[in-house]
Amino acid sequence: MDLAARYARLKAALPAGVRLVAVSKTRTVEEIRALYDLGHRAFGENYPQEMKAKQARLPADIEWHFIGHLQRGNVKHVAPFVHLIHGVDGEKLLDEIEKRAAAAGRVIDVLFEVHVARESTKHGLTPEELNTLASAWPSARWPHVRVRGLMGMATFTEDNALIGSEFDRLAGLFRSLRSGGPFDPALFDILSMGMSADFGIAIARGSTLVRIGTALFGPRS
Ligand SMILES: *Cc1c(COP(=O)(O)O)cnc(C)c1O
Repeated sequence: MDLAARYARLKAALPAGVRLVAVSKTRTVEEIRALYDLGHRAFGENYPQEMKAKQARLPADIEWHFIGHLQRGNVKHVAPFVHLIHGVDGEKLLDEIEKRAAAAGRVIDVLFEVHVARESTKHGLTPEELNTLASAWPSARWPHVRVRGLMGMATFTEDNALIGSEFDRLAGLFRSLRSGGPFDPALFDILSMGMSADFGIAIARGSTLVRIGTALFGPRS
């Protein structure tokens, strides 16, 4: 199957209301351009310099999603153009995004990353840290940052029940913050969960945005 066929099949599998971010890390500008020419506009990267270099060479109407772990020193590379930063996990990173967004004359949309997986290597806030961070709102400290929702990753496993329970946990945190939290529910509306191997489970558990690389572009080398 070629890219056009995989893209068509994937789009047909996504319910209305679930957005697709094509994860283009390690892919060439030409591969991104091929999907762009099929009409796709949302791409996800997890290395700031790589995203910046690609952004400079590709059309300006692409939405660039930063989906990796963003170090404070790298915010400056993406702040002028990034569409959504998925992996925010602390006040210091928020401070840096605030500073760089203000300097760029923008308001930057972010998601809080929550750690729900078993692996200890994965980044993100614990549910307790999430609630502590959220309780800092409403705040005048980050006027150039808009909190749009949550992002998370499930454990890398064949155990679908475990994946489902982790996504349930994340979706529950999302719903409770949306209905009873300090954020405007009309804007706090993005739940980023699901990758190539588990997006079906994620959608069944309430995902509104899936981040898919391999199932679109094929295996990464
Ligand atoms: C690489 C990556 C993806 C996409 O993974 P695939 O298995 O290729 O779909 C999604 N989310 C994050 C955070 C990633 O780093």
